[in-house]
Amino acid sequence: MSSRYDCVVVGAGHNGLVCATLLARAGRRVLVLEAAPQVGGAAVTREFAPGFRVSAGAHLLPAMSAPLGRELALHRHGLELAAASVPTVALAQDGQCLPLDDDAALAARSPADVAALAAWRALQRRFAQALHPLLTGIPPRLGTQDRADRARLLTLGWKLRRLGRDDLRELLRVGGMCVHDLLEERFELPLLKGALALDAVLGTNLGPRSPGTVASLLYRAAVAPGAGGAMLPAGGLGSFAQALARAARAAGAQLRTAAPVARVQVREDRVTGVVLEGGEEIEAPTVISNADPRTTFLRLLGAEHLDAGFVRRVSQIRSRGMTAKLHLAVDGVPPFSELPPQALRGRLLFAPDSDYIERAYNHSKYRECSEQPVLEITVPSASDPTLAPAGKSVLSIVVQYAPHEVQGGWQGQRQAFTQRILATLERCAPGLSPRVQAAQLLVPQDLEREFGNQGGHWHHAELALDQFMMMRPVPGAAQYRAPVDGLYLCGAGSHPGGGLTGLPGRGCALAVLRRSAEP
Ligand SMILES: Cc1cc2nc3c(=O)[nH]c(=O)nc-3n(C[C@H](O)[C@H](O)[C@H](O)COP(=O)(O)OP(=O)(O)OC[C@H]3O[C@@H](n4cnc5c(N)ncnc54)[C@H](O)[C@@H]3O)c2cc1C
Repeated sequence: MSSRYDCVVVGAGHNGLVCATLLARAGRRVLVLEAAPQVGGAAVTREFAPGFRVSAGAHLLPAMSAPLGRELALHRHGLELAAASVPTVALAQDGQCLPLDDDAALAARSPADVAALAAWRALQRRFAQALHPLLTGIPPRLGTQDRADRARLLTLGWKLRRLGRDDLRELLRVGGMCVHDLLEERFELPLLKGALALDAVLGTNLGPRSPGTVASLLYRAAVAPGAGGAMLPAGGLGSFAQALARAARAAGAQLRTAAPVARVQVREDRVTGVVLEGGEEIEAPTVISNADPRTTFLRLLGAEHLDAGFVRRVSQIRSRGMTAKLHLAVDGVPPFSELPPQALRGRLLFAPDSDYIERAYNHSKYRECSEQPVLEITVPSASDPTLAPAGKSVLSIVVQYAPHEVQGGWQGQRQAFTQRILATLERCAPGLSPRVQAAQLLVPQDLEREFGNQGGHWHHAELALDQFMMMRPVPGAAQYRAPVDGLYLCGAGSHPGGGLTGLPGRGCALAVLRRSAEP
């Protein structure tokens, strides 16, 4: 059996769906093939214990950049929010809490930090606005004579130049720094520094003292500058994926699930389509991969179609995940003793200070689980009661740091690590453990298996300065186009990186459309 399309998208992660929608709207015949039984990739809602549902991968939806938000108009495709802007609350070792947008609470602990935080936020906003154009669209190639590349470089340079001398100098000074040093310069309160440092390292294989962590903090701010806080879609992140799928179908794209692609077909150095694991062939002159770069190039395409230098660079991409997910089914309301009830709807960070995070990271460097893990806790059922049976709660916890490979293997460590996380939680929610009716821990190897992303990394490829912009994922494929004609990347491993931003999917669609407009 054989069928023919203009574009085949391999993977219906949110980036694959964004890319498919934009291409279908531009008149392309698009087919999306997803290996899993449902769309969404790591944006998915699952039942993990009878009656308890949770966002099984990503659990918070960041605001989308304004143009993409307008283009997709997901509310028209059924996206409803259980919470529109989730506030961040820092938790201390003794369970005390600090809501980050409560100046009075901060002033009571550190009056100087109120002004320091306002000044940092204003500066970060200006940086984010200047950096945003770098993250959207196709990054320029360096050293070419191509007019479009040169024009884009000039435009990006001009946007940065508009920051003004003082801000630009500060951006250049802090851009490659470690976030620990930046926070030491600006703030007093360890709890505040811990919360800000966590935002710089969440999802990465880096600690607060790793160079370049200010850049990853700015990345989070710059993907959607000026937007509000993270959102919780009603029904979990799976609803976001469903709305994207409806947008793709409304644009004319076809979607097939349970359709794993085994390989990308190449004839005379040109992509001609894909072959599914069952042997079905689908012809298309353009194949767009939402899979991670290593899977795309080494498994789906095959090293034999690439030159040796490129294969070496791809093999060296750092993509080992460091982030785990713990889901808890809890009887009653989780007993965070010092939290006001409405704070349960927030994003609760257990990262009491920057050194605490660095110590948690130290273990993972030597393939050990953190003795005292760092946690981003949400209680989604507090905003969306449909996720748990009446009188019960769901906790969704991102756990930093859990190495992809752990000494002795995960088989023997899983139970002990779960207990360690529960012991950490007990400090701010005493009495939680006896109320836990079911627990599910997904370590990077589980995430790799569940979401088909080699390494199970949040960003598919480490978000670090040497794997960023014109180097993401590797030179030679950094403008979404692979060295083999007709093959493109649209996933988190391509520019600008991961998180539910849709930016790689959008950038890739622009690259495909631009290519077809070329003579
Ligand atoms: C534990 C964890 C928590 C996270 N929390 C957040 C969060 O709260 N907020 C946030 O913004 N981001 C979060 N992230 C990051 C976010 O989930 C990812 O960056 C994002 O999902 C990447 O989207 P994507 O579409 O590029 O790829 P994915 O979501 O990984 O989707 C790729 C899709 O391709 C499919 N695929 C792969 N190979 C094939 C094949 N051969 N054939 C067919 N289909 C294939 C996969 O099945 C998958 O559906 C988290 C990540 C992790 C690991």
